[in-house]
Amino acid sequence: AKELGRNRSCYYQRELTDSIHSRMSLEQDLRSALEQHSFTLYYQPQFRVGDSIPKRVEALLRWPHPVRGLISPHDFIPLAETSGMIVELGYWVLRSACQQFLFWRQQGLKLEKISVNVSPIQINSSFASTVADILQHLDFDPRWLELEVTESLMMSGTTEVSQQISELRAMGVDFAIDDFGTGYSSLSKIKSMPVTVLKIDQSFVRDINDDINDYEIARAIVLMAKSLGLIVVAEGVETKEQEGTLHRLGCEWVQGYYYAMPMDGEEFYQRYCTEAVQ
Ligand code: C2E
Ligand code: CA
Ligand code: CA
Ligand code: CA
Repeated sequence: AKELGRNRSCYYQRELTDSIHSRMSLEQDLRSALEQHSFTLYYQPQFRVGDSIPKRVEALLRWPHPVRGLISPHDFIPLAETSGMIVELGYWVLRSACQQFLFWRQQGLKLEKISVNVSPIQINSSFASTVADILQHLDFDPRWLELEVTESLMMSGTTEVSQQISELRAMGVDFAIDDFGTGYSSLSKIKSMPVTVLKIDQSFVRDINDDINDYEIARAIVLMAKSLGLIVVAEGVETKEQEGTLHRLGCEWVQGYYYAMPMDGEEFYQRYCTEAVQ
């Protein structure tokens, strides 16, 4: 038993050092990727139910790693946040997404919004002014931009955060609450939040036709959003049946694998720009 115990602790020890090493090397890789601008953005279209040409698009970050392949944001955003790199990375995302959007519009695609995910850590005291500089530099109309933030950020509402958000709102930048329904916002709170869009979290969409609770939550979100004059986007729509139910509930905007996987800018262009021009 003693022998076994020692082996086991040895095993755990090795696993621990491995994970520390892998965390450190990942952080170094992340830092050099940031310096070398070796990230890339994917884009996923959002449609008005029934349309085949998208009016809105969400930018999703990807990290093509030389050894590990295409790394999902789930695996590096937390590290980018704890290391503070998310601030610089976030500005790179914003700049690149806006540039891509301008290019598509020049090519004749009538996109109305590009949405960009923003982590709470990015919203520091110079956030609004830096975003303003980036947009101005690109000659980008702030009304084309939507920033997706979490419910908890909107709820916590420190004066710093509200100050930054209202500065951007005054410029015409819109805000969406991502993964809506997974936090604990009350109806009265939503009313006072400076947002124009609620994105129904995919966890409610997944079983919308099989789980009455998910159905009821989705229904309540759409009703509430409509009564407050907000746009609702359902994310993670994978089937025609899910779309049908969402549409019956009054949800007008959809995003998900049923329509398109996230894709690189070139593919998005091939798929929707050439079609729109013809
Ligand atoms: P999110 O903002 O909630 O994005 C939706 C995620 O669901 C994306 O994963 C997307 O690829 C995936 N998805 C889209 N349609 C479907 C579907 O029909 N079914 C299923 N099962 N999944 C679908 P992705 O691209 O891996 O991004 C994961 C998360 O990473 C995002 O969740 C977002 O929170 C974060 N993220 C992505 N890009 C950025 C970024 O530029 N900045 C920051 N701060 N966070 C980002
Ligand atoms: Ca999002
Ligand atoms: Ca989401
Ligand atoms: Ca999510």
